Amino acid sequence: MMQLRSFKGAVKVQVSRRAFLGVRHNGSGDVMRPPWALAEAAFLENCTRCDACIDACPTHLLVKGSGGFPEADFTPGRAPAGCTFCGDCLSACRDGALEKIDGQAAWSLLPVFAKTCLAVLNVVCRTCGEACEARAISFPPRLGGVSLPQLDVAACTGCGACLADCPTQAIAMFPDSSRSIATQGAA
Ligand code: SF4
Ligand code: SF4
Ligand code: SF4
Repeated sequence: MMQLRSFKGAVKVQVSRRAFLGVRHNGSGDVMRPPWALAEAAFLENCTRCDACIDACPTHLLVKGSGGFPEADFTPGRAPAGCTFCGDCLSACRDGALEKIDGQAAWSLLPVFAKTCLAVLNVVCRTCGEACEARAISFPPRLGGVSLPQLDVAACTGCGACLADCPTQAIAMFPDSSRSIATQGAA
């Protein structure tokens, strides 16, 4: 996956609601497993590469990845709806590789905004904010420039719907393993 850097001077968030509840990083490095995936070692042990979750996913976010294991592929334009958290993959998995745990989010992915964001280039754009049903992206007023997108980490579900219509493909989903250090738009 394309490696994106956060905006220069990005704000670091100390704690999020989901960090408090407990989150999981599905995958390893840049690899993002389906929602509700076990920790990577346990996932690889349990997943039989049956493709049932991939076939069940109505948004076509899940694909067969390296080694035949399922991955969430947020390549812009591929699966514009992202993950709706419908749970169809979870229901389809008969081998225990995906498991819902009370108090834990389905995953701990976050959007990361690159410097190619139009707002950073001083062009008014709120496309990502309009796409976000969770209202996790706001545009606070900024002196001397157009408003920049700011992510509310606690409100963000990691669905990935905000990337689809970004005119400059400035957003990528990022597996946030620390989760307590999350990029918050631009400073
Ligand atoms: S929860 Fe639904 S939309 Fe999300 S990956 Fe699973 S099947 Fe696809
Ligand atoms: S349904 Fe479960 S066992 Fe089958 S590929 Fe998906 S995660 Fe692996
Ligand atoms: S990934 Fe987060 S910011 Fe983007 S649309 Fe989903 S909830 Fe909103």
